[in-house]
Amino acid sequence: MTTLALRAGLLATGTAELEGGWLVATDGMITEIGSGAPPAADHKLDLPNCVAMPGLVNAHDHMFQWATRGYVSDGTLFEWLRALYPVWARIDAETVRAAARAAMAKLLLSGCTLSTDHHYVFPTGSAGIFEALVGCASELGLRFHPCRGSMSLGQSKGGLPPDTAVEDEDRILADTDDVIKRFHDASLGSMCRVAVAPCSPFSVTPQLMRDSAALARKHGVRLHTHVAETLDEERFCIERFGRRPMDLMEDLGWSGDDVWFAHGIHLNDGEVDRVAESKTGIAHCPSSNMRLGAGACRVEDLVKAGARVGLGVDGSASNEDSNLAMEVHQSIYLARARAAMAGRADAPSALDARAAWRLATSGGAACLGRDDCGTLEVGKCADVAFFRVDDLAHAGINDPLAGLALAPPARAEAVVVNGAIVVREGRLLRADEDEITREISAAARRLAQA
Ligand SMILES: [Zn+2]
Repeated sequence: MTTLALRAGLLATGTAELEGGWLVATDGMITEIGSGAPPAADHKLDLPNCVAMPGLVNAHDHMFQWATRGYVSDGTLFEWLRALYPVWARIDAETVRAAARAAMAKLLLSGCTLSTDHHYVFPTGSAGIFEALVGCASELGLRFHPCRGSMSLGQSKGGLPPDTAVEDEDRILADTDDVIKRFHDASLGSMCRVAVAPCSPFSVTPQLMRDSAALARKHGVRLHTHVAETLDEERFCIERFGRRPMDLMEDLGWSGDDVWFAHGIHLNDGEVDRVAESKTGIAHCPSSNMRLGAGACRVEDLVKAGARVGLGVDGSASNEDSNLAMEVHQSIYLARARAAMAGRADAPSALDARAAWRLATSGGAACLGRDDCGTLEVGKCADVAFFRVDDLAHAGINDPLAGLALAPPARAEAVVVNGAIVVREGRLLRADEDEITREISAAARRLAQA
């Protein structure tokens, strides 16, 4: 049995804010919380210059995209995808490993302790990609929910991706079944849970969506995909299927508390209510949505309706970063710009800072089906992010929790995952940041020149 006592100037648990608050982690789980002098423990971390909060939860990402940042910097989603698909069709396990280590490093350094990854490009013959992703998370110490993604609808069948980037559906389902059996751990405090994630309505067939849902439900794992990201997608669905994207998803069995969608931007009032009623999750990705000019998710309406809403960085090819604390900031500013453009007088109070931190913690945990993560409570996972409030950006700021959201920290000072310190003094403890940087630089160059 190993115990770790953590203490901060302010401990925000998600349900309370404790001045000089502390918690004790025993074998990765929280066993005590209080304020004042912490009890004795095997190890301790006492940072009076920091705010500590639940580790951030990243509800949508494509980590391989770290190798293709900076492409099509001014295109729509479909233009951007059409240019990138042929590049992505050349990736292999080595590229994915370099990209995932960089993406995970940036996530950890932004205070993220639990992340999903939606990996949907498996070029034929390039084995070991899923294994590389799981291996990177284990190496760096990130709690991980990899999605076995897929694309099966190539251009010759009316889809958006080229035929070289798609897979055979039988192979997809067999491989998905295999990775669930090998890597999914449903237990309390699990460090790895697998989800099933056909990519989007314009890159897979309705039959694969149905078969994927059946496979996921047979194993009791979650379902994830992109929905209602752009108006181009909406037009595609209406032309090809005669239905709006959310109607299509519901017809295919993709609704319920075991499903979470990325984006959910172009939802009408009825769809907002249905998402909330069915307990389907939405991963809001503000930077990516603004970068691609996709639109602004109705976050406040969804939260008010009772929906599960989390935050995601999305793939770094559409935001050039993986900084989840920055997404908290972006979500507030986007919600207020959206409200102001709708003529609302209450625009300055749209999505307050604490609500935005909830999206990035308990909201994301709900999307990922983790009732043992997202808040700091006895019996939950000891996943904690510490942010300095005595640095140049934050020293003297009134209301540090609001300050950290309005002026996002460049780096987390310390990060604890599963009761283990994995970031300290803004540096990774389990990997060499300079080596990660050299490797991704080489991998991105190789991919561009291939
Ligand atoms: Zn995405």
